[in-house]
Amino acid sequence: MAILKIARMGHPVLRRPAEAVSDLDAPDLQRLIEDMVETMRDAEGAGLAAPQVHRSLRLIVFAVGPNRLRGEEVESDSAADAESGAGAGVPLTVLINPDYAPLDEEKDEAWEACLSIPGLAGRVPRYRHIRYWGTAPDGSTVEREAKGFHARVVQHECDHLDGVLLTQRMADMSTLIFTSEMNRFLEGEAEAQASDFRHVPESNPGDSHGESGTNAA
Ligand SMILES: [Zn+2]
Repeated sequence: MAILKIARMGHPVLRRPAEAVSDLDAPDLQRLIEDMVETMRDAEGAGLAAPQVHRSLRLIVFAVGPNRLRGEEVESDSAADAESGAGAGVPLTVLINPDYAPLDEEKDEAWEACLSIPGLAGRVPRYRHIRYWGTAPDGSTVEREAKGFHARVVQHECDHLDGVLLTQRMADMSTLIFTSEMNRFLEGEAEAQASDFRHVPESNPGDSHGESGTNAA
């Protein structure tokens, strides 16, 4: 296995739609998957799409630790969570030719980062509840429902396959910041809200505190 070089924002491979994987038995596909998993883990990312490692193919890998999802249990329905796997983390998943559809129109905004935009994070609206599907390396079909951060990672990775970066999904570019300034930024926001007597929006647990919340993908 090998750690692959990650393309950064501005590289053309991140801007063009990736091609469908037509042959699951292609000789280098399994090797590419293994290398992508190793690269994602080395970079401590939550997900990685093939265009990020200079391969314009519709292939993504992701894994979400249970710690990242814990905060979401508070506000979501536990029965539905058990079904969608939220709260227990998401095991390492490899999806070939993946796609998704929102299950309702509701979106959440949360911090997001990207291994192709190192050092930066921004607030990105994403569908809260989706169904997604794709083909596993063994040829079987994977189909799941996902909410919260799990759903966010899948949407982020699928966007990479269409040449779309998180900056193109942001509603408010003033929240594009260096992660090293995150604490200062959040303090500034809190002060601005207190001094204006503006309504302080309910924070998404685990999203504005302890910035493990910005796992890059
Ligand atoms: Zn990314």
